[in-house]
Amino acid sequence: MSEFPAGSVWLVGAGPGDPDLLTRKAERLLRAASVVFHDALVGQGVLELVPCHVRLVPVGKRSGRHSKDQKMIDTLIVEAALAGERVVRLKGGDPAIFARATEEIEACRKAEIAVRICPGVTAASAAAADLGLSLTLRGLARKLVLVTAHARAGEELDLDWASLADPQATLAVYMGKAAATEVSTKLIAAGLSGSTPVAMVENASLESRRHFTTRLDLLPLAAKTALGDGPALILIGEALGNARTASAIVERVGQSLPS
Ligand code: SAH
Repeated sequence: MSEFPAGSVWLVGAGPGDPDLLTRKAERLLRAASVVFHDALVGQGVLELVPCHVRLVPVGKRSGRHSKDQKMIDTLIVEAALAGERVVRLKGGDPAIFARATEEIEACRKAEIAVRICPGVTAASAAAADLGLSLTLRGLARKLVLVTAHARAGEELDLDWASLADPQATLAVYMGKAAATEVSTKLIAAGLSGSTPVAMVENASLESRRHFTTRLDLLPLAAKTALGDGPALILIGEALGNARTASAIVERVGQSLPS
């Protein structure tokens, strides 16, 4: 297949979990691959679309074993491509958002391996869909900021809180569960109102999805008590003001739709 010659690599976005949110191109690439290296966050339903003859290799943190070092993943991909395989590197959400794509692209380019990206639906889009609301709002939320609140163990988050505390922005905080308290206190200290609406969406797009609405000053408690083990996104800003009513409507409509 000219789209996917032997010895090449595709970084493929698996979307937020629901296999119906996979692009048609991603599905085609999964069928054409000879090996798929996948993250732990890739939904089970997506993995089930990978044909049995394709080698499926988990390389993610949650796969039950130790997180493979990023360099090790780069090496695995490069070696497979050099051996003439059609390599898919399957990543949760979109491969270009908080997914270490740069390291993998550079490793491939250094080895003169053709590498391309197939985009996927990112968690923020899936969370907005579950909540039934827009992340941007004319006049109120003119800017959408995707930010990661992942810090190295024992280190403080190194974020520009003054610029994040913008009342006209919607913040989509990835990997923010553990840092929810710090996010709340630092944003309030930087001037964002404690009553700013917040929504947390866990397992967006999946059957097991759950969402909660709260306010910025109550976020620490809400994150501790409400969230489970699944991946969760924290959304902050005035655009989330209608989250409670909007999601209730989505649920009612969902219940009345034939499945
Ligand atoms: N590349 C991914 C993000 C990877 S970072 C993307 O574009 O979505 C991993 C973080 O993404 C998780 O800690 C969580 O904050 C978020 N995330 C991924 N899948 C999610 C889901 N189904 N529901 C809620 N948050 C999710």
